[in-house]
Amino acid sequence: MTQPANSEARRYQQLRAHLCYLKLNDAAEALPRILDEARAERLTLTAALERLLDIEVTATEARKLASRMRFACLPEPWTLADFDFSAQPGVDEKLIRDLATLRFLDDASNVLLVGPPGVGKTMLAVALARAAAEAGHRVYFTTAADLAAKCHKAAIEGRWTSIMRFFAGPRLLVIDELGYLPLPADGASALFQVINQRYLRSSTILTTNVGIADWASAFGDATVAAAMLDRLLHRAAVAGIDGPSYRLRAHQTHAHTLRNGVNAHA
Ligand code: ADP
Ligand code: MG
Repeated sequence: MTQPANSEARRYQQLRAHLCYLKLNDAAEALPRILDEARAERLTLTAALERLLDIEVTATEARKLASRMRFACLPEPWTLADFDFSAQPGVDEKLIRDLATLRFLDDASNVLLVGPPGVGKTMLAVALARAAAEAGHRVYFTTAADLAAKCHKAAIEGRWTSIMRFFAGPRLLVIDELGYLPLPADGASALFQVINQRYLRSSTILTTNVGIADWASAFGDATVAAAMLDRLLHRAAVAGIDGPSYRLRAHQTHAHTLRNGVNAHA
């Protein structure tokens, strides 16, 4: 009489072994629970299988997202929800919300965030990059100085082709802080090559404190600057952020309080 129970137990072990062999480990782990639920809730076979595989799919998605986020090297966990538009009247909210739909990735458009320090350029770039990673795209964040340094090192070590392939890879590349530090000539040229090979293929977000009119002087080489701008701007959204520095807000309030205090005593 113990025969059916035995064969049922053997079948369960076999099923669990199948799941493990196929590396569906989360489903394997959830199997006893789902079978209990199926019995208790009288689930159909289809419903029970769906519930079991949903666990595996959810876990796989989470693992893939975590791996994309690790690869992306975002410097902060910022999202667009963290950005206070009322604190920054200089930014075009409608444009940023439109960019957040990620449609710009579809036609390989670029995004230029131009403005003085502290206005939220990096924050917006990070927020858009994060949204893209969450939507399943490969994203990589770097600064102009870091990109130049990586390319310089790769050139010395004979890895030029592979570093160029690396920067061509991501669906979205963020190059932060162009113009903050003067780029050496080979840095400007590396940046141009990165921009050029991504041109019309995949999107780049670039943040800079240098107004477009001043790029020629900022790069030292007017020809390289013009060629780079030509590619960047051919299909691009340019968001000029000309407002108060968010970084200095705390200091300004502080200075204001101090001043008032001093005046009150005077
Ligand atoms: P930028 O890159 O233009 O120099 P950041 O993006 O680094 O400026 O912003 C500077 C600091 O101020 C960051 O800590 C950022 O989170 C914060 N910040 C800037 N703008 C806003 C905003 N509109 N809402 C909330 N935080 C902001
Ligand atoms: Mg910044």
